[in-house]
Amino acid sequence: MRKIIYKILILLSVIVSSGFSFSQVRCGTFDYENYLRQKNPDFGDALDKTRRESINANSINYKNDDETIYYIPVVFHLVWNTPDMNLDDSLFHSQIKTFNEAFNHNHKDTNKIRSIFKPVAGNARIIFYLAKKDPNGKPTTGINRVKTKKGDFGNNLYAETVKYSDEGGADAWDPEKYLNIWVCRFTYNGIMAVSAYAFPPVNAKYWSSSYYKDLELQGVVVNYPYVGVKNPNDVMQGSMREKTLIHEVGHYLGLRHIWADKNNCTGEDDGFKDTPLCSKQSTNCQANKNTCNEGSGDKPDMYENYMDYSAYPCTIMFTQEQIKQMRWNLLNLRPKVGSTKIDNSIPASESVYFYPNPASSQIKINVDKQGLYTIQLTDMLGQNIDKAIFNISESYQYKYNISDFSSGIYQIKILYGSKTVVNQKLFIQ
Ligand SMILES: [Zn+2]
Repeated sequence: MRKIIYKILILLSVIVSSGFSFSQVRCGTFDYENYLRQKNPDFGDALDKTRRESINANSINYKNDDETIYYIPVVFHLVWNTPDMNLDDSLFHSQIKTFNEAFNHNHKDTNKIRSIFKPVAGNARIIFYLAKKDPNGKPTTGINRVKTKKGDFGNNLYAETVKYSDEGGADAWDPEKYLNIWVCRFTYNGIMAVSAYAFPPVNAKYWSSSYYKDLELQGVVVNYPYVGVKNPNDVMQGSMREKTLIHEVGHYLGLRHIWADKNNCTGEDDGFKDTPLCSKQSTNCQANKNTCNEGSGDKPDMYENYMDYSAYPCTIMFTQEQIKQMRWNLLNLRPKVGSTKIDNSIPASESVYFYPNPASSQIKINVDKQGLYTIQLTDMLGQNIDKAIFNISESYQYKYNISDFSSGIYQIKILYGSKTVVNQKLFIQ
């Protein structure tokens, strides 16, 4: 593996010296893909085939599965050198919250989506949470802090060595079970040219290259100022800030940039009919920007899309077709990462049920009989978190406060007397 890594670095330096412009680069995924295509033509063929197949499959076979919510455990490998890089826990928590706002379409700014695009904005119904167990089954915060002697993993546009402990980084946790996000410092000639990049989904069954099947590279790498809300290290005006990682997770789930990394209005598109054709990225909320005229029904460029480069206040939506593709890819190309799924549509009992799920501050428990009820809340390791008893006399509804519990998946059991009437998972955001 080490030999391959060094080959990567050599090839990357070729790309850089051949005139790669980094002045406006925020996301390195497209260039990373191009590098992989150069390295092995099979990669490009397979990636294109995967994209075509998944787009076809989701448009042909997609069934309305609106009620299913997929859960993705996340581990942040914080590989830090100087104290400013040793980010506070709160930044990781706020990043997870940002993910869940984006992938559940409940960002406070969704009302700012222009009316022309509101009909195609959608809810991806994917929930992210900090991993509760490490690969050995031991409890974890989902933040893997690794102090390193390396002050910089860059001097090229990528930072693949951060994925190896023997290179001063951190080894991946099983990428079939976790979304790995490496946080480190990586620069090119002292400039933080790339905010972050993602490994595109490649584990399709026909993936022939032995190297690109290697799972330990799967995930996202991000420069440390671009994690969390109000990261004190992010001094760049107009950057994507905490939206950077939303964009990268979009790549991780198989989405392309909405302008398909081209500079014209012809040729390959991003594959989705509900993202207007455009020839270049946006940088801010430019309402009148319309780089490609599509004739009748022409729409302006969709700066609201997370897969654009617009500054952080602008990006507030995924489209329904993007969502279909992410969900298809999650099921088919990253099946184990998203395997924790909860059918939210069926209450455990027709007469006793709670909502909402996921929830952040309280859940409402509706019951059909008066009397004493007991709530038992346990974490996924089976440890008791809370027990509450409530008496229903008139309202037939009890409001259970969950704001003191950290985000994650819990098991909630509700008993009426000694009879269990609810026993299901509860996700606390
Ligand atoms: Zn990108």
